[in-house]
Amino acid sequence: MFDVEKIRRDFPMIVNNPDLIYFDNAATSLKPQCVIDAVTDYYTKHTSNVHRGDYAIAAENDRLYDGVRKIIAKLINCDPDEVVYTHNVTQSMNQIAWGLAHDFLKKGDVVLISEAEHASNVLPWFRLQQEAGIRFEYIPTDKEGRIHLEDYEKCFHEGVKAVSLAEVTNVLGSVQPIKEMSAIAHKHGAYMIVDGAQSVPHMKVDVRDADIDFLGFSAHKMCGPGGVGILYGKKELLDRMSPMLMGGDMNARFANDGSCILKETPVKFEAGTPNIEGVIGTGAAANYLMDIGLDHIHAYEKELRAYFCEKMQKLDNIILYNPDNEYGPIDFNAKGVFAQDAAGYLASKNIAVRSGNHCAKLLHNIIGTDQTIRASLYFYNTKDEVDRFVDEAKNINLENAVGIFF
Ligand code: PMP
Repeated sequence: MFDVEKIRRDFPMIVNNPDLIYFDNAATSLKPQCVIDAVTDYYTKHTSNVHRGDYAIAAENDRLYDGVRKIIAKLINCDPDEVVYTHNVTQSMNQIAWGLAHDFLKKGDVVLISEAEHASNVLPWFRLQQEAGIRFEYIPTDKEGRIHLEDYEKCFHEGVKAVSLAEVTNVLGSVQPIKEMSAIAHKHGAYMIVDGAQSVPHMKVDVRDADIDFLGFSAHKMCGPGGVGILYGKKELLDRMSPMLMGGDMNARFANDGSCILKETPVKFEAGTPNIEGVIGTGAAANYLMDIGLDHIHAYEKELRAYFCEKMQKLDNIILYNPDNEYGPIDFNAKGVFAQDAAGYLASKNIAVRSGNHCAKLLHNIIGTDQTIRASLYFYNTKDEVDRFVDEAKNINLENAVGIFF
């Protein structure tokens, strides 16, 4: 049974800030006590490095740290040795792009992306175009950022070797039909790469079922600690891919003559001391989400979003950009008010939202503005908070909001 009031008691940030309405979950999520405990236990009971120590707590950390691969494997339905720890989805996407260029693609090959993508799924491809002659092309979207399969398939030609898309975009919340897109990409001999930053925390993502080749996501957006990302890749692809970072732990041997033998996947991608406590906390977060049930989370958030949009659509002073998307963040502006001023007004009422371009700087090509307010909900938010939010949003106007931002 999904009991939001019970869930809210798991989050010290909610308990300690009863008046705060936190609608900035697409930026980062709040953390439940079990995640805080997992991290604190590492600091207070078993601090050590991993893969290096010959003593009991080090062995315990090896067990906990590597054990999280199994938890993540269950979360996204893959094998534990297909789970690579990174520092965030940004690093995951950079490793994928760099690795593709290094090992799989050649000059003139094309990667398909869209204008609704976050910078971390745009800039790595921009760099490949500048430095390696691997080109990118845009898949058209509709005005709410959705890609339609007929338009998508038309983008394929002989040069297309990979597609890289967010499953749920971070501003418009457009949910792309990744499974169907993946089948089409594979039919044309292209790899399917997915930015799961806004999907994995909110819905069941099954990499096998959708036949995804590479997936990246960040723990901090799914109730986990900061500084941990996941890179999933099909094992045979990861085996063929070179690591972007070289350093400690990921090599089996190196010698004076410059030779170096790397460890196996996934450790070969994890150079240097990792965020051990963060990875352990990520395991606690993934277990927490799976205990509640991603299907329950998804259904609840969908209902909450619909409730939010229905109420906001009734306000004369508000322009909503993506009410028809059934999922993800909601973007709007208050008529005539600069987005940051409107966010400042909401902040003065103890409401946390984000304003600006949300790291999706090409998005203005789709919605005609690059300054919006983004409200992003998570499963611990409530209809009561939405009511309070809408009551404040209806008052945002030129007189009370301008210049309020601090
Ligand atoms: N992709 C998407 C779709 C995102 O929403 C975000 C975070 N806003 C990122 C990538 C980047 O995440 P991180 O900063 O954790 O690397």
